Amino acid sequence: MREVVIYGDSVLETKAEPVTQFGPELELLCNDMFEAMKHDHGIGLAAPQVGVSCRVFVTDVEGDRKRVFVNPEIIMTSPEQVDYEEGCLSFPGLYFMVKRPAAVKVQAFDERGKAFTLEADGLLARVILHENDHLDGKLFIDRVSPFKRERALKHYERLVKM
Ligand SMILES: [Zn+2]
Repeated sequence: MREVVIYGDSVLETKAEPVTQFGPELELLCNDMFEAMKHDHGIGLAAPQVGVSCRVFVTDVEGDRKRVFVNPEIIMTSPEQVDYEEGCLSFPGLYFMVKRPAAVKVQAFDERGKAFTLEADGLLARVILHENDHLDGKLFIDRVSPFKRERALKHYERLVKM
């Protein structure tokens, strides 16, 4: 099983490469990602989080089916922003409030190369935005003020030492 990469690994802060080939290798990666995500009780996971720097993420949000997003593009976000507590499998135990658009429209391919467009709100929109950030090497600690970022990282360092 693939292990989830923890904060500190440079792959998490590297812009991921687009997928150029659909096929068994990609399907295997997606299966592995679903497995790792389930193991860690996550609802979203991006490929860089299993050490693979390519533009893929998966979601499994309650009330929705499992989804794969390959080479996603966020084409619209709502002007309305909402504050909600977020966690990240690459920061075990760390949770804090992050403000994000309430709704999102995303274009992507599924694991077989079929294009789709999806409009989402609520938790699914949040997960899509969080995971999409991972593909750009951006982490949820980068989405808050420098002060809050510093405080979150200090708290996380204490968690890690425990
Ligand atoms: Zn994350």
